[in-house]
Amino acid sequence: MTIALIAHDSKKELMADFCRAYKHILSQHTLIATGTTGHLVEEKAGLPVQKFMSGNLGGDQQIMTRIACNEVDMLLFLRDPIGAKPNEPFEMQLLRVCDVHNVPAATNIATAEMLVLGLGRGDLDWRTIIPPQQLQV
Ligand code: PGA
Repeated sequence: MTIALIAHDSKKELMADFCRAYKHILSQHTLIATGTTGHLVEEKAGLPVQKFMSGNLGGDQQIMTRIACNEVDMLLFLRDPIGAKPNEPFEMQLLRVCDVHNVPAATNIATAEMLVLGLGRGDLDWRTIIPPQQLQV
């Protein structure tokens, strides 16, 4: 399965630590990420990541497009709920596209953990069985 990773600056270390902790599960899957997040996960967790542009250069949009094309099976988006949110309308769009395609999405570490543990148990295998057009709302 393909798992997309995006982390705001204040959450990047947390994302890298999380990926290292769940390396045994994540290493069985394809990881894609925005530029800086992807670099950090590669460096700290030692996992291969297909990196897109940095978020502020359009990497978030590149990932959203892949979700819209049903090429992503899970989004782990660790966002900063406290800091300024100049990008909030886009974040809502990103989550909306996940809802359209029934892509499981986590916006905090607690939900991310549930999703990755479920992934390890095979709870998301239905995504490989159901034809993509039926996954859409
Ligand atoms: P980055 O993008 O991983 O390139 O920093 C994420 C973001 O939009 O903050």
